Amino acid sequence: DPPAEKYEYQAEVSRLMDLIVHSLYSNKEVFLRELISNASDALDKLRFLSVTEPELLKDAPDLDIRVQTDKDNGIITITDTGIGMTRQELIDCLGTIAQSGTAKFLKALKACVSAKFDSKDSGGDSNLIGQFGVGFYSAYLVSDRVVVSTKSPKSDKQYVWEGEANASSYTIREETNPEKLIPRGTRLTLYLKHDDKGFAHPEKVQKLVKNYSQFVSFPIFTWQEKGFTKEVEVDEDPAEVKKDEEDGKAEKKKKTKTVVERYWDWELTNETKPIWVSLVNAVSLSGSVYHTFKPPLFFVMRNSDISWFMQLRNPKEVTTEEYNEFYKKTFNEYLDPLASSHFTTEGEVEFRSILYVPGIAPMGKDDIVNPKTKNIRLYVKRVFISDDFDGELFPRYLSFVKGVVDSNDLPLNVSREILQESRIVRIMRKRLVRKAFDMILGLSMSENRDDYDKFWENFGKHLKLGCIEDRENHKRIAPLLRFFSSQSEEEMISLDEYVENMKPDQKDIYYIASDSVTSARNTPFLERLLEKDFEVLFLVDPIDEVAVQNLKSYKEKNFIDISKEDMDLGDKNEEKEKEMKQEFGQTCDWIKKRLGEKVASVQISNRLSTSPCVLVSGKFGWSANMERLMKAQTV
Ligand code: ADP
Ligand code: MG
Repeated sequence: DPPAEKYEYQAEVSRLMDLIVHSLYSNKEVFLRELISNASDALDKLRFLSVTEPELLKDAPDLDIRVQTDKDNGIITITDTGIGMTRQELIDCLGTIAQSGTAKFLKALKACVSAKFDSKDSGGDSNLIGQFGVGFYSAYLVSDRVVVSTKSPKSDKQYVWEGEANASSYTIREETNPEKLIPRGTRLTLYLKHDDKGFAHPEKVQKLVKNYSQFVSFPIFTWQEKGFTKEVEVDEDPAEVKKDEEDGKAEKKKKTKTVVERYWDWELTNETKPIWVSLVNAVSLSGSVYHTFKPPLFFVMRNSDISWFMQLRNPKEVTTEEYNEFYKKTFNEYLDPLASSHFTTEGEVEFRSILYVPGIAPMGKDDIVNPKTKNIRLYVKRVFISDDFDGELFPRYLSFVKGVVDSNDLPLNVSREILQESRIVRIMRKRLVRKAFDMILGLSMSENRDDYDKFWENFGKHLKLGCIEDRENHKRIAPLLRFFSSQSEEEMISLDEYVENMKPDQKDIYYIASDSVTSARNTPFLERLLEKDFEVLFLVDPIDEVAVQNLKSYKEKNFIDISKEDMDLGDKNEEKEKEMKQEFGQTCDWIKKRLGEKVASVQISNRLSTSPCVLVSGKFGWSANMERLMKAQTV
């Protein structure tokens, strides 16, 4: 072997390696995700270049990633048939963290690290982390030693890079062992730390690939033990043979038994075609610059390359069945979703998403206040990042929405702190919320009324909570609400239906809050309104009244509680009121005296038609229904 040449890491890199690795990644197991995503990037680059230089493919026509494990020795090998690295690229890419110089890198790192540790202010620019490739170093989260053997199509030699955790130098030598030559691409060998050898179990690796890299657009094979059963002939028990002979049974019967034959083979472990990657997005890339942060990889896309560059699914070609299948598989659901929405957004932030309205609400009543539902799976470049959100992507009242979100604009090692502070995430959240409302609105307008009834039964409470918590979206929430009413006691109506049904002289939307449709129907407050044929909403869910009070109005019509004292039906007759006051004024005074502190005041009203009197709430006081609720809460 030619001697390995020793290189010092560029300046401070070695001292910082440890810091980077341990401060940017909270979760060790992401090393596999990072290394597979590097393999996938390398394959992407090769595929792209091969559009104009098809001969690049000839040494290894298959573009794939293979992960092999040796659990006895604690070794993981990751092999790709991608672009590989030349000797100089090995030095540039793996021995240098920031292409653009250590000083700039240090500055960026400081920002990242302070963002990480300073809990108040996570203002570090998260994009800088993605900008300075540190993904490769995540190998040292679990490894003592890393060997990278790589063959670029630009070079006729294969080189081996070797580095150890916490060392200040690495070596590069040429590969001469014919058994270790690869046709093209990169083979990474990780020698795991003593405590991390568990990662070298085939099942563990399979699980991690399925979780983090399920939708990487190249096949990922893992080395798995398999078995098949077969019948084998067995030697007969000599005692029995002898017995048979004695019995005079001449012909020899062969005995068989079933055994499991074990063998090892490559198993395809990911799905290579995520259905959310859409044509729209690819076309938007056309003519623009696709860049990675390491030269010489600035590509200019051409239209004809595009469909080949990415594996595409045009939303128009994806069937409802496929969406439903994907939903059930991804979220472990057995019921079809009620609705789905597949979209791409462009402009400031570019991402793709499929959202779903589940068919049924999860069991347990506290889900409504628990936004940590694991309902949204975030991917960056089709690599799974997290499903552990706490209101970053959806407000808690919409946390029932399930879906996948795939962005190219976030770094792979995005953390909770970064998510909360990121401007990109804030824009994403706004768009996701808007799309979720569009999807629900679509469902509410569907031919099949049952679907929306189902939705309302499961998630109506969530939307009412939205009236209270999300003023900004009142306009989107209000048309989705449903209530019983004096004219529709069996089927709920929408506010649009109510408004359409309003009488020409009716200014406001009337409601009465009660504990049931029956008691709402029997309240004396209704009398005058029914006489005028005004419809009254029956708010029978405890949260209804607060929700409606937060909305205040719908289509410029105020919500009016018919149990409050100042209700004005627009038919005041001043003359008559004066007469009444004169006639009954003293009676009122007398009643007030008798009741004393029990009532605030006794007044003459024009709101009753058949009942002699009614108890109402003050304009600024709680409604009777609220009072009932408050009492229920304090006992
Ligand atoms: P990033 O992926 O963000 O650029 P990494 O630290 O993950 O940063 O990788 C550093 C660089 O090393 C990559 O940009 C790439 O040039 C090179 N590299 C890493 N893994 C491979 C691989 N499997 N094949 C070819 N090049 C690789
Ligand atoms: Mg990387």
